[in-house]
Amino acid sequence: MASGGDWDLGPTWCYVVTGEKLTLIDTGQFGKFNVLTSMLGQAGFDIKDIGRVIITHGHEDHDGNLPEVLEASGAELWAHYAFDSMVAYHEDIDDGAAHPDFPGSCRTCLMPEQFNKICRPYHRKRSKLKATQRIMEGTALPDSRFRFLLTPGHSPDSMCGIFEDEVVFGGDTLLATITPHPSLMLEYYCNKRILPEGYGKDNGAYGLIAYIGSLDKLQKQCRSTELLLPGHRLFEKGKPNYLRPAERAAEILRFHAVRCGNILKILDGRVLDLDQIAIELFDPRLRRGFGKYLSQREVMSHLELLAVQGDVEWADGSKFTSRTTGSEKYKGFFGKFTGI
Ligand SMILES: [Zn+2]
Repeated sequence: MASGGDWDLGPTWCYVVTGEKLTLIDTGQFGKFNVLTSMLGQAGFDIKDIGRVIITHGHEDHDGNLPEVLEASGAELWAHYAFDSMVAYHEDIDDGAAHPDFPGSCRTCLMPEQFNKICRPYHRKRSKLKATQRIMEGTALPDSRFRFLLTPGHSPDSMCGIFEDEVVFGGDTLLATITPHPSLMLEYYCNKRILPEGYGKDNGAYGLIAYIGSLDKLQKQCRSTELLLPGHRLFEKGKPNYLRPAERAAEILRFHAVRCGNILKILDGRVLDLDQIAIELFDPRLRRGFGKYLSQREVMSHLELLAVQGDVEWADGSKFTSRTTGSEKYKGFFGKFTGI
């Protein structure tokens, strides 16, 4: 696979929870069904034993192999109630999306064609799926030992599963040593009409502000939980990253506050575009290959937050150049969540 600079996430972690129904959380990178079945085998399970699959969000490194898993096991599929819209095609709705012919999760894909064409056959297969249990905010499932928090920001259909108030399955929302790429507020306008009715109104489904709200939810509602089981980097360089979920959420919140401050410092009276800011903000190793697009997107998500606070304004909206206004209201915004 081509390199994305040093943004590489490492393998996807899928988890098996035993109980009345054997539950598989996430199904891994697409095209790796054999790896999944052989790892299940090593743990003493057969794919046919799976009674329930929970998907943390509809990205192909987390829901990959899902059609094969469901077919082989006949398991129930539990997912965020926006998941069905993310995997389906909405070709009749354009609304300015870069790729209206891609599934809901990828209508604003920024990858060049050489990358996104790799996912297309998988997306076709995935588009036929529908969740059997659509998880809503506050869904109570009396006979399961899980509860769920809807945590949009990385994607509109992100959610975290909490098992017996002890373990949090963080998907890409709560990662161990990295932060996920936030979606962009801009994407809301291209996708508003494909979302389930009433979901994400006033841009609650996309962008860094939505993600910050989700982190705040996690830091408040997971106080008593002991262990984060993230979608990537549970182990790194042979060592486990065993973290407390609420503390990790608070740490990521502070990280984004600092990054907003750093972007304002870089702008410092100048008018710069996304790439000019990204060059100063990131190590060149992170900007290799498609890392360049990821770094620009990262800058954009923070600028959107700063623009909403009134700390930056767009100098030229079509070229995404911005300048500072002199205020630092982002501090008050983050202060509500971080106690800074
Ligand atoms: Zn993801």
